[in-house]
Amino acid sequence: MYYKSTRNSSLKVTASEAIAKGISEEGGLFVPESFPSVKERLSELRKLDYISLAKEILSLYLTDYTKEEIDECAEKAYETSKFSGEQVRLHEVENEDGVYSLELWHGPTCAFKDMALQLLPHLLTKAFKKQADGKKAVILVATSGDTGKAALEGFKDVENTQIIVFYPENGVSPMQLRQMNTQEGENVCVCAVKGNFDDCQTQVKRIFTSVELKKLLAENNMLFSSANSINWGRLLPQIVYYFYAYFRFLDRMGVENEEEEINIAVPTGNFGNILAAYYAKMMGLPVNKFICASNSNNVLTDFINGGTYNKLRHFYTTISPSMDILVSSNLERLLYHLAGNDDKQTAEWMNALNSKGEYTVDAATEERVKENFAAYCCDEKGTSENIKDTFENSSYLIDTHTAVAFKAVKEYREETEDYTPVVIASTASPYKFSKSVLSSISDYENNDEFAVVEELSKVSGLEVPAALKALKTKPTRFTNVCDRDSISEFVINTLGIKE
Ligand SMILES: *Cc1c(COP(=O)(O)O)cnc(C)c1O
Repeated sequence: MYYKSTRNSSLKVTASEAIAKGISEEGGLFVPESFPSVKERLSELRKLDYISLAKEILSLYLTDYTKEEIDECAEKAYETSKFSGEQVRLHEVENEDGVYSLELWHGPTCAFKDMALQLLPHLLTKAFKKQADGKKAVILVATSGDTGKAALEGFKDVENTQIIVFYPENGVSPMQLRQMNTQEGENVCVCAVKGNFDDCQTQVKRIFTSVELKKLLAENNMLFSSANSINWGRLLPQIVYYFYAYFRFLDRMGVENEEEEINIAVPTGNFGNILAAYYAKMMGLPVNKFICASNSNNVLTDFINGGTYNKLRHFYTTISPSMDILVSSNLERLLYHLAGNDDKQTAEWMNALNSKGEYTVDAATEERVKENFAAYCCDEKGTSENIKDTFENSSYLIDTHTAVAFKAVKEYREETEDYTPVVIASTASPYKFSKSVLSSISDYENNDEFAVVEELSKVSGLEVPAALKALKTKPTRFTNVCDRDSISEFVINTLGIKE
């Protein structure tokens, strides 16, 4: 199996190269050159537990990893003790007609990003062994909250890696702040930046492309790498849980064959999670429609419904912050496939997005997008109302991101009368966004995050995840703050290397 760049099909790399590089040198993203079908093997795969299923799916794509390597990666990443039991869980939503919530937040940081970031460090260190002579991987992350913590937890004490996370000083939730500042591990470091998320991101990108820094690292047998969501190593692990969810759905329904169709709804930001679902369909998962759900930053809703992607619009800061995004990077991969693997066309669209802030796809591509995807968006009020409705009608507590997808499913069903059973990706524990969730279902107010958590538990009867509960008494390990312009100095000092 080889991977091609979406902007230059003549570039062909192996899986470990794609994972070690992260992004292609001309700015394109790596995509598999074909999708292996498991259509004839569904009944066999249905019998597997999560780890075994992950091994099967991974091995179809990571053809330059040995079987032993893949086994080791999957076993370390998805150890049941880290997920307090079953890795992902399918919850049938009461008083709804065939609505299932796929809970992807039982991992160590209580958000779905664990599903990929528990595995990526293992894939990456093995890729570095093959591609970079066993150099130490230095991971830099700019985060607005969830990714930073999930990456820290994933890379914690992974041999031959060092991770440094930058977050905006006043830009993360109190729970996210505690999660990061109390992080354990010998190879981790966290630093607040006087600036906003864009400042962090811009500076980190600058470091990645600095020739002098690259040279300095090489002299010390190190190499920068990125854990962000355009890395193939983050997308691939997400394919697994859509198959797993489908099989548990069939088991629940008592259906013997593996032909029944489902719809899949995903609260979407960077388009990674929903793209993984689409890839599962390409491999033979019987999916009828994908429902793409956005918050007030509804750039994808407009694109899917109208064929024009326009990022020149107001940026909203919402109560579903992990979806506050105007450039959905992974959409590029979908467009490449739907345009018939046309690298020139994809590059043209992406260049237009950079230079003019928008592009419009041709009618045939637009048609193919609509065949597969429906899209809806939801404002703050709609998000809160849905948390309340779902809690009252179905005795089920959902977080702000998941609520956006629940709302999209309701609108989709009303509009289309398509009542195909639907699996909704539930992307975070409600306790990660306790304040917004609690204020949707109660009048209680308190500025202390842990008081809010306790009250939410009292009102909902839902147990607080142990990992979040423990944060209350954990010692703070990191209090670093730096200026925007001294991020690279901070990196050099932390790594203990000299110019
Ligand atoms: C990252 C994130 C999303 C968006 O996922 P994408 O793959 O970027 O579309 C949704 N919900 C939560 C809680 C997240 O952390």
